[in-house]
Amino acid sequence: MTLINLFFEDSTRTRTSFELAGKRLGADVINMSVSQSSVNKGETLLDTAATLNAMRCDLLVVRHALSGAPHLLAQKVDAAVINAGDGLHEHPTQALLDALTIRRHKGGLAGLVVAICGDIAHSRVARSNIHLLAAFGCDVRLIGPPTLIPAGIERLGARVFHDMREGLAGADVVMMLRLQRERMTANLVPSVREYFHFYGLDAAKLAHAKPDALVMHPGPMNRGVEIDSAIADDPERSVIREQVEMGVAVRMAVLDTLARARQGGRNSA
Ligand code: ASP
Repeated sequence: MTLINLFFEDSTRTRTSFELAGKRLGADVINMSVSQSSVNKGETLLDTAATLNAMRCDLLVVRHALSGAPHLLAQKVDAAVINAGDGLHEHPTQALLDALTIRRHKGGLAGLVVAICGDIAHSRVARSNIHLLAAFGCDVRLIGPPTLIPAGIERLGARVFHDMREGLAGADVVMMLRLQRERMTANLVPSVREYFHFYGLDAAKLAHAKPDALVMHPGPMNRGVEIDSAIADDPERSVIREQVEMGVAVRMAVLDTLARARQGGRNSA
């Protein structure tokens, strides 16, 4: 099996995680980042994909700034395409690894109150988690300032709160999100200090959640912006490192499933 990691946006953990997952399954893994690719010479996304496809790669892991780019590629190439994050849209393997981490601690997902907090507007992690957690019967709450919560997002199956104390009341899981300033085209938060005061997770705000509530963050973390270091590093509450560990396991499962399906297809062809 040959796996190509095609990353048009920066990544540390997701790219490394897919690379490790592929190698642990015995695949040949090739990493391509846009700075080394012919996209810089004007090639279109579809031409890049067609070129890689002609080399007969089996699995194409794609991260792109445009929502829907992996979906478009999946229609154009023979390789199985895995979305490693597309714009503001989705980050499916992140939601899978989050669900696995929660399940390991809580024994299941149904009935859990999960609060997703912060910059919902720019978060593909939030969107994938809303879909997955709602499908598994969680009570999904979104907490953030009105400027960072898109109008109508309740229709995806979540309730919206603008006050951390109300939104966190009785939560089993508190999932913090990074303030994605690189995607903001306007000043959506007055200042980092004020943001932390109202929406940063510290001991006082966490006290409103259940005493055994898990603290999660997809990374990279902005300490002192959306989360206090004391909480992020508290081994009794934080499962942030475990999320990274589960990322490799989940991606191995995804790659293995797709590789077997391709093998099966070939055998039956
Ligand atoms: N690493 C996650 C993503 O790529 C979250 C983040 O960047 O804040 O979407």
